Amino acid sequence: MMQFIDLAAQYKHLKQRIDKRIQKVLEHGQYIMGPEVLELEEKLADYVGAKHAITCANGTDALTLAMMTLGVKEGDAVFCPTFTFFATAEVIAYEGATPVFVDSNPDTFNICPKDLEKRIQEVISKGELNPKAIIAVDLFGLPANYPEIEAIAHKYNLKLVEDAAQGFGGEINGKRAGSFGDIATTSFFPAKPLGCYGDGGAVFTNNDDFAALIKSYRVHGQGKDKYDNVRIGMNSRLDTIQAAILLEKLEEFPVELKARNVAADKYNAEFKGRYKTPFVPEGYFSSWAQYTLQSENREVVMGQFQEKSMPTMIYYGTCMHQQTAFEYLGYSDNDYPVATRLSKEVFSLPMHAYLSNLI
Ligand SMILES: *Cc1c(COP(=O)(O)O)cnc(C)c1O
Repeated sequence: MMQFIDLAAQYKHLKQRIDKRIQKVLEHGQYIMGPEVLELEEKLADYVGAKHAITCANGTDALTLAMMTLGVKEGDAVFCPTFTFFATAEVIAYEGATPVFVDSNPDTFNICPKDLEKRIQEVISKGELNPKAIIAVDLFGLPANYPEIEAIAHKYNLKLVEDAAQGFGGEINGKRAGSFGDIATTSFFPAKPLGCYGDGGAVFTNNDDFAALIKSYRVHGQGKDKYDNVRIGMNSRLDTIQAAILLEKLEEFPVELKARNVAADKYNAEFKGRYKTPFVPEGYFSSWAQYTLQSENREVVMGQFQEKSMPTMIYYGTCMHQQTAFEYLGYSDNDYPVATRLSKEVFSLPMHAYLSNLI
């Protein structure tokens, strides 16, 4: 059976380089914040086109660091898509703030700017919560509609966070994912477009004050040295060994990104007309974290793929407004018609950089 994401094929291809890099770390022994971490942060900032890249323990912590840095707290409303991975909404509630879910665009799967503005106006007119920030998600590798979302953030004086956990490598008119909003975040979970061999994440910003705060929060609210703590923070560093692995994977990333797009083009050619294929707007470039089709007969169609030994997965079968953990917010499916339909009709096909000769 074909692998849904073939990490073993990638390792086989990069084995010598990755093994050598790991060996170097074992020899110098600086397992925490070693030289590879700083080298990676410089290269990530360079790649993304952001002034600062600050690595951390995972993509969820990266979002939490963004929330802490923006001072998100109880009484604040933070807007995010209902059709996303749980972590996007979780970090809002974790700070004691209220997630306000937004419906999706049926073609791009991303947050719908029109519905976003509607929900912001609703929160303002109710007057119970302080509208504070937006977390937009680059779902399945496609950057969200930042031209319109940035205009809305500006109009309502909201901070904007880009959750690029799946979006790393994506672009809008040559501007890369990780460079949108006031703060952007990504994840190096193994299955993401740029993954390590464990957990990892990063935060990006052009704002020097934010960067200083993120660096402090990352290590116990550190002040002028290790034993000076000026705020309540967390312990969320990227392991040096993971940074070493990521340095080799980042080097190869542009080649892999091309291969993922070749695979997506092949899928598009094969499935156009039979299923609703993913839509990439003019000027946008996807890193294809997932290749996602839509069908009203999802179960039947997934069975047909299974018979041809092609595995399929559902991202996502449960929207945020349907999660048990968010029942207290009192939303119903009628509030989110598009996302609710997507959760019933989407399914994803295998996607990785070592796929194109298999399909
Ligand atoms: C994976 C993911 C995260 C969380 O990243 P972790 O590294 O698993 O903590 C956050 N947001 C989205 C959209 C994701 O896909």
